[in-house]
Amino acid sequence: MALTPQKHSIPLSDGNSIPLIGLGTYSNPQNTPKGTALAAVKRAIEVGYRHIDGALIYCNEDEVGQAIREKIADGTVKREDIFYCGKPGDTFYPQDENGKCAYHKSNLCATWEAMEACKDAGLAKSIGVSNFNKRQLELILNKPGLKHKPVINQVECHPYFTQPKLREYCREKNIVIVGYSPLGTNRDPSWVNLECPPMLEDKLLTSIAQKYKKTTAQVCLRFNMQRGVVVIPKSFNLDRIKDNFQVFDFSLSEEEIKAIEGLNKNIRFVVLPFWADHPEYPFHEEY
Ligand code: NDP
Repeated sequence: MALTPQKHSIPLSDGNSIPLIGLGTYSNPQNTPKGTALAAVKRAIEVGYRHIDGALIYCNEDEVGQAIREKIADGTVKREDIFYCGKPGDTFYPQDENGKCAYHKSNLCATWEAMEACKDAGLAKSIGVSNFNKRQLELILNKPGLKHKPVINQVECHPYFTQPKLREYCREKNIVIVGYSPLGTNRDPSWVNLECPPMLEDKLLTSIAQKYKKTTAQVCLRFNMQRGVVVIPKSFNLDRIKDNFQVFDFSLSEEEIKAIEGLNKNIRFVVLPFWADHPEYPFHEEY
């Protein structure tokens, strides 16, 4: 099926569907002026995005919500046309008396049951997980009394970290991968592992981009989308928001997809080392 700006959703195992491209909305709250997320999300909806990735912890979810509300009110979209991914919690980064991260005591299965209750109560249409490795996915899938399977796993995925094994496992289990940091992150050293060089300067990616008269970012996005991986590029720049959505007027060949897959370095940009001592830290295992 040809992907178009109007038709680019893929099915989820619960009967819903998810647009293959969405707008990421994480930006360091300390240096992002108020109103930036509001303007970015409005712009995104105007240029055709119908999927927005947010989280309470990004400290701008109120602006994201306001943007969606305004675009519904002015007739640009209907609520049912928008796929919104949220990630709730009650306290941000709780610490103990020694300043160490204080982790929640509950387990993944209990948390999943709470997610199932949210779906049953109509608070969420689809429920999924993020940063889960194979063992953690199995824990949920094999949970006695499982009511709803996770429909997505949101994990890092881009040409330098293509996730071949996790992707194959998720394909077998009918779990869609939503690829975060599809452009190689914002390279903020406070949370990004800079061992990998900047992906958007990669020689192969830039040469393919030149061939199609597209940007390297567009090639990275198209690469994942053609592989059935949902992408959520973040931009708060009004021109780049539009550019990143211009991924429907070209198509990569099988050989190009294979060549780009060959760029995989198996090194994460997003390691989250400050949580490495958490009993469920997902990245100690290979995938
Ligand atoms: P991305 O790979 O989307 O890259 C974002 C960076 O690229 C920003 O600095 C942005 O700057 C820049 N950029 C955007 N478009 C272009 C372009 N066309 N050319 C050059 N630079 C560009 O990184 P993120 O890490 O933000 O990932 C995307 C989203 O994924 C997040 O915003 C968040 O929603 C989600 N996420 C989820 C995680 C999880 O654990 N579940 C972890 C990390 C991310 P500018 O804004 O100036 O354009």
